Amino acid sequence: MQYFLVVLGCQMNQSDAERVHAIMGKMGFSQADKEEQASVIGVIACSVRQKAIDKVYSKISKWNRWKRKCPLITFVSGCILPDDHRKFLQLFDLVFDMKELSALPMMLAQYGVSSPLSGMATPAALHESIIDKGGRTIFTGLKPVAKQKQPPQTWEVEPVYNSRFEAFIPIQNGCNKFCTYCAVPYTRGREVSRPSAEIISEVRSLVTKGYRSITLLGQNVNSYGLDRKGNELSFAQLLHAVGAISDSQPDVWIYFTSPHPLDMTRDVIETIASHPSLAKQIHLPIQSGDDEVLERMNRRHTVARYREVAGWIRELLPTATLFTDIIVGFSGETDAQFENTRNAVREFGYNMAYIAMYSPRPGAASFQWSDNVPHTVKKQRYATLTGDLEHVAARHTNQLAGTTVKMLVRGYDRKPGYLTGHTEGRIVVRFPSTDDTLIGAFANVTIESATPFSVEGTLAK
Ligand code: SF4
Repeated sequence: MQYFLVVLGCQMNQSDAERVHAIMGKMGFSQADKEEQASVIGVIACSVRQKAIDKVYSKISKWNRWKRKCPLITFVSGCILPDDHRKFLQLFDLVFDMKELSALPMMLAQYGVSSPLSGMATPAALHESIIDKGGRTIFTGLKPVAKQKQPPQTWEVEPVYNSRFEAFIPIQNGCNKFCTYCAVPYTRGREVSRPSAEIISEVRSLVTKGYRSITLLGQNVNSYGLDRKGNELSFAQLLHAVGAISDSQPDVWIYFTSPHPLDMTRDVIETIASHPSLAKQIHLPIQSGDDEVLERMNRRHTVARYREVAGWIRELLPTATLFTDIIVGFSGETDAQFENTRNAVREFGYNMAYIAMYSPRPGAASFQWSDNVPHTVKKQRYATLTGDLEHVAARHTNQLAGTTVKMLVRGYDRKPGYLTGHTEGRIVVRFPSTDDTLIGAFANVTIESATPFSVEGTLAK
């Protein structure tokens, strides 16, 4: 029996996918190379970009055509807005919340897919069900939390890691921030922190196995523990515990993404400074460099607050690289407000910024507002800001020329005959080699040339 999984969107979905693979593997399924070979096809959807959702609709209409010729079961989970959820119910055999993942064998059993796990009915206690006309039990969703003994979470499923040297560990799910352009609080729900004992145990197991790069994941990692205040570690305490385990290992870089400037505390930065294994790279989304735009975005931080946090990073982690996310052309953004974002890019001297042109997302608050910055203006702002970013980022990469950097080799580069990877600060490095035994190991590379976002060199002797 073979299955095929389409994974769209962010690292959180990639992490969820590792748990879907684990469940399918335990059911006796193997991964198909092509979707045509599979008898079960699943999608982990992303609602952040319309393109990703359009892709799901186009895929399912193709798969439903295939069903006329061969038996096929389809399912969808991930970040799904209520409107799409309603439509998917008509198109997919199964639509479920990632929190219900442990019940997937039981749900598939309703379609005649049997496995040793199908009878594991513990999740049934957590689900509402109805009997359809054919006598099948249809699981209609999770019971209200009050009726459950314990609400499940995706992280309760042990993952099958995609990589033998880098891994993502979910530490929290959901978001309480409600940025006006974002639908995540509606698709993933409110913040829930994973028990720290589980996180620490997963980190310990990975570092013992020799993993080189581990990323703690959450929508708002630094509000970790706030939903269980008094009963759970703070984010800084969690980092300290993770750092203490990892420091004793020969070589590992521990990252986290994404923090929110509002919840960032000085002790988080102090903790990173005090543990060699906690990577000196911070991804701190700013989204806009203008306070009025930040307010309309409901970001709940100002540029001054961001400056305070960036100041701690520069003071306590002088070698750290700084990454960010920026939206250009948000509803109502004026030329002067965009200029403030350009000023922020210059002031904070980012090594990388993921710049997006604003597009309204159904389900997000700003979807009701006029998308009144013309596309040509958004494109112009995107190009201008990319130019500014290249300018500031090049200051750092140019300084690497002539030095020898430590990098994690991650795989083959697009440039034939080259391997690629990144430094602790996640600066991309490539060097000529086809020795695949280096993949997954650290290497030292002497840098000979630089572009704004990457450097190139040769293996140091
Ligand atoms: S902090 Fe804002 S952008 Fe990030 S997930 Fe929450 S609502 Fe979305």
